[in-house]
Amino acid sequence: WVAASFTKQQFPLVRLSSDSAAPRTPHFDVIVIGGGHAGTEAATAAARCGSRTLLLTHRVDTIGQMSCNPSFGGIGKGHLMREVDALDGLCSRICDQSGVHYKVLNRRKGPAVWGLRAQIDRKLYKQNMQKEILNTPLLTVQEGAVEDLILTEPEPEHTGKCRVSGVVLVDGSTVYAESVILTTGTFLRGMIVIGLEMHPAGRLGDQPSIGLAQTLEKLGFVVGRLKTGTPPRIAKDSINFSILNKQTPDNPSVPFSFTNETVWIKPEDQLPCYLTHTNPRVDEIVLKNLHLNSHVKETTRGPRYCPSIESKVLRFPNRLHQVWLEPEGMDSDLIYPQGLSMTLPTELQEKMITCIRGLEKAKVIQPGYGVQYDYLDPRQITPSLETHLVQRLFFAGQINGTTGYEEAAAQTESCPVARLECIAGTAGMHHNTQLGVIAGINASLRVSRKPPFVVSRTEGYIGVLIDDLTTLGTSEPYRMFTSRVEFRLSLRPDNADIRLTLRGYKDAGCVSQRRYERACWMKSSLEEGISVLKSIEFSSSKWKNLIPEVSISTSRTTYESVLFHQLQEIKGVQQDEALQLPKDIDYLTIRDVSLSHEVREKLHFSRPQTIGAASRIPGVTPAAIINLLRFVKTTQ
Ligand code: FAD
Repeated sequence: WVAASFTKQQFPLVRLSSDSAAPRTPHFDVIVIGGGHAGTEAATAAARCGSRTLLLTHRVDTIGQMSCNPSFGGIGKGHLMREVDALDGLCSRICDQSGVHYKVLNRRKGPAVWGLRAQIDRKLYKQNMQKEILNTPLLTVQEGAVEDLILTEPEPEHTGKCRVSGVVLVDGSTVYAESVILTTGTFLRGMIVIGLEMHPAGRLGDQPSIGLAQTLEKLGFVVGRLKTGTPPRIAKDSINFSILNKQTPDNPSVPFSFTNETVWIKPEDQLPCYLTHTNPRVDEIVLKNLHLNSHVKETTRGPRYCPSIESKVLRFPNRLHQVWLEPEGMDSDLIYPQGLSMTLPTELQEKMITCIRGLEKAKVIQPGYGVQYDYLDPRQITPSLETHLVQRLFFAGQINGTTGYEEAAAQTESCPVARLECIAGTAGMHHNTQLGVIAGINASLRVSRKPPFVVSRTEGYIGVLIDDLTTLGTSEPYRMFTSRVEFRLSLRPDNADIRLTLRGYKDAGCVSQRRYERACWMKSSLEEGISVLKSIEFSSSKWKNLIPEVSISTSRTTYESVLFHQLQEIKGVQQDEALQLPKDIDYLTIRDVSLSHEVREKLHFSRPQTIGAASRIPGVTPAAIINLLRFVKTTQ
């Protein structure tokens, strides 16, 4: 594994429009470029906040397309979905209308780390998403490829070198807006790879985005290169399911959205998944044909937690790896073999697959392939996802280096069909949808000159994800884990509405009145319930008779003290977060604070907004933080 390669070049500004007579129509509040998972959430969030929004994307018929596994959720990622839903985002509601197999993962652990997950009907999801997008008030959807950005002089208070004021499409036409959000996924200089063949594409069947990538580089953004891949799709009727371990969905199904009591389909009508494993013959085919597989040889980094089968064979030799056979939809003839992402030449893919138990007669309908693409170092954006370099330009989604399909290698000894955290949960999509919501909200708030909507690490998984990206950056596709989160007991999937819906309503205006009232009712009911419970005094044996499966006295003493300590820690972090660093501080030249050259460079690049964020940047020492604190106090 080699560090992702970065290039930084300074070029003159792109299309600096000083021509005040230039035609300024059509004009929107917010333009979102890209109709993938980040773009759809961003566009609808901006529209919900009251902004006249334009979604510009290559093709309307690919809006809501799942490029890889048709599934949502999983451990950590289920939390993100609940948080997106709490902000009135789309993906949870649409998953409740489009799933074919709903299951909560990690049930053996406490509810704070349960992972809501569903296998989704690819076609249905797309249909439901397009219906929603095309019927969102204030949102216009237009097909078109954006080639360039229109830039003007920055507003005086901004440290960036210019301000975005619109976009140029491939046909030369222009559209103007107050804020622009880029959600171009894997399309920036995308190249797809099978065997030794490589050709430019954002994903199979779609053109890459070259002009825009050049624009960003010319502006001086630090660009890196990442890669990912997808497995071949197999004909359902060519698989011998009868000899494989079957996994049935939960009964009852747990919906993703707080607004739903149940999902669209009964558990008995849902589809099963099946488990099989790789074997030494698979390893042999991979190792013998490495010279025919350029994606594996590439030094750019791929997803650590959902590696290709080739990477798994190389990193964990002589192991049997799980392969989950997952349906692509109710009436789909295709099966998605989760765990078998590969870039072997097409003819070898079927040869490898037919070595696997249950797949002896499998027919490959669409080959697996890899994709390599540009991403932008996320330390170049603020916690509101606006770029440091260009005012009112926001980045959301895979463009920021997020991803997160889970590694499928973990084995369960005791329960062969139980899924560990390694289920492919399209984690990237959740990170991306979630980044989309935040970018959409902030692009809109920027237009109305309101303060940004920032979620802190103490408030949500969203906060952890964005803080990790903006302070630490990433040199490999980033995936969310519950272990990245300090305050797991407080940030649960079940209380995401209490944590975020009220804020989303008051501070961002992205939440409907109905949802807000529901969350208020839930909050007051919970508070009332807790105070009633606290007022009742029974012996522990009487409590046990009332609620046999829960020992109230034990759980109260266990959790009360832990929650108390966690609350103290949260307050400490919040105090650090309240200490804002001056926006215009020039770390490279400032004299009134003693900082090493290395620390100055790191602060200059990441531009942390608070002392808390500065303290999390690797290499920024405790001594430097104390000096910064002194400096902040003297300047306030
Ligand atoms: P996307 O869903 O890629 O959407 C980008 C959108 O932008 C598209 O609609 C495109 O048409 C549009 N667009 C791009 N450029 C322009 C332009 N110039 N003008 C107008 N429109 C434009 N993710 C993972 O997390 N893990 C994986 O292992 C994984 N494997 C993948 C394998 C493959 C082969 C591919 C193609 C993708 C994979 N992904 C993976 C990516 C996964 O699809 C993303 O996580 C998710 O779709 C990203 O959402 P997004 O909205 O950022 O971008």
